[in-house]
Amino acid sequence: MITGVRLIIIGRQGAGKGTQCLRMSRHYVVPHISTGDMLRAAVREGTELGRLAEQVIQAGRLVGDEIMIGLVAERLQQDDARNRGYILDGFPRTVAQAEALDRISVDRPIDAVIDIDVPRDMVIARISSRRTCRDCGTNYTSKGGEHSPWICDSCGGDVVQRADDTPDAINQRLDLYESQTSPLLDYYGRQGRLTVIDGSASPDEVFARLTSAVDASRRPS
Ligand code: AMP
Repeated sequence: MITGVRLIIIGRQGAGKGTQCLRMSRHYVVPHISTGDMLRAAVREGTELGRLAEQVIQAGRLVGDEIMIGLVAERLQQDDARNRGYILDGFPRTVAQAEALDRISVDRPIDAVIDIDVPRDMVIARISSRRTCRDCGTNYTSKGGEHSPWICDSCGGDVVQRADDTPDAINQRLDLYESQTSPLLDYYGRQGRLTVIDGSASPDEVFARLTSAVDASRRPS
């Protein structure tokens, strides 16, 4: 089995990105680097970044490029990412971030850029019922009527609805995705680096398509 890989996963919020990234990080034994998780950790810890990020996240806006690029550049310098690779989830989110990432990763280039494509109306339904573990980021689907918080099967943390998963913030984030993040599809598409996967299939099917796309991108030609 091939292990160790450098990947970028793009997709609207609610496309199942987080769950698929976690599963792939176990499969390829590489860190799952979610910029959303990093910002939420900073909010919990009450750092300067956390105080700034809290308002931006709740309003459904994007944290500034310069801050995000610095955060990711630092994370990719750590031993696990340097030695094994990484799965980037939620970064890049703008073309400026993608250009910076090309510079940061020039010595160890990205193996694959994958877009998990799910139509907007489907993701609105998915995000509204999404519940997330505060500690490890595992996502669950609420069927209604559960205790809040409930206990995470993976780590025992509290599973709650994210504060930014309200209808207004969801719509705002989806608008932002169309204006700021979907140009990335052109950016990577024009360079011939993009694979688009239909994310409306079952989670197991999406995972199988993801791993075959990754394995194909790493096979010597
Ligand atoms: P996520 O968990 O990926 O949905 O991220 C939650 C929120 O964190 C986003 O709605 C943004 O406000 C912020 N965020 C995460 N990643 C980035 C990024 N690469 N650039 C700007 N803001 C980000």
